[in-house]
Amino acid sequence: MQCFNHQQQAAIGVCKCCSRGLCAECAKDLGHGLACRDRHEAQVEAMNMIIEKNARIYAAAPKNILIGPVFFLLLGLLFAGFGYFSAGGITDLPFLMGLAFIIFAVVSFVRSRALFRDAP
Ligand SMILES: [Zn+2]
Ligand SMILES: [Zn+2]
Repeated sequence: MQCFNHQQQAAIGVCKCCSRGLCAECAKDLGHGLACRDRHEAQVEAMNMIIEKNARIYAAAPKNILIGPVFFLLLGLLFAGFGYFSAGGITDLPFLMGLAFIIFAVVSFVRSRALFRDAP
């Protein structure tokens, strides 16, 4: 492959943003990929940041996916307990709402866990 800007020069790599061939003079090495010097440096910098951020979010996800289900489970137990002991029993709205929250907590936990089953 030849450099996009200098047809007589061999490319040493491609820009991560526009995929054009770049020679040593046109390429700017940003650590995790090359960018067109003075043209796509900011874009490639942003792409690297997004990729790194996603990797961190993904690594933390197995712990973070518990927050929602646990919250809804506690809310469900609270409503169900209140409905059962104070309001009109298991046919009254608070108990049924609590039951719905508990079901939602279980379903969302199972679904998010399936999503991250392959995560280390
Ligand atoms: Zn470029
Ligand atoms: Zn060049």
